[in-house]
Amino acid sequence: MSATPRLKVATAWLDGCSGCHMSLLDMDQRLIELSERIDIVYSPLVDTKVLPERVDVGILEGSISNADDLALARRFREHCRVLVSLGDCAVNGNVPAMRNHFPLEQVLARAYRENVTLQPQLPDRGVPALRQRVVPIHGEVAVDVFVPGCPPSAEAIWQVLAALLEGRDPDPSAFTRFGA
Ligand code: SF4
Repeated sequence: MSATPRLKVATAWLDGCSGCHMSLLDMDQRLIELSERIDIVYSPLVDTKVLPERVDVGILEGSISNADDLALARRFREHCRVLVSLGDCAVNGNVPAMRNHFPLEQVLARAYRENVTLQPQLPDRGVPALRQRVVPIHGEVAVDVFVPGCPPSAEAIWQVLAALLEGRDPDPSAFTRFGA
């Protein structure tokens, strides 16, 4: 890659399994090159937990399923110049959106009452309120780059970051397909 300014990159996972972040780490030795070209300014992978005012690239894994997911997605959109939907859960709802086939009350009852033998009860504190329906990121905020896959390959993530570092518009279509 040619010399370009360091990119400030933020990542977060919403309603996802963290598998997309694991794929990011799968870049192996390329992570060393990336570390010389980007600064991870906010992420579950680093200790910094305050989203800076201005971020070059925001990467969101997972769908928007609860109130906290929505708040964080909106903050990323507000603070990030480029917003990336990483993985099928972010792009189309994928596994988390399966609950959309059932009323929320039925989902909660199944998880917290019918399948529980000890103190069945709905959580009413310390957890964000579930939304009626799960939506992909672009169901609530504008997304600039879609990277499908469950998870997307490390190669796909690398190609997206490399394009952004070079000031090009990423085209993940050559490196991705839904579900793989
Ligand atoms: S797309 Fe797949 S790997 Fe990524 S968060 Fe969703 S279920 Fe996990």
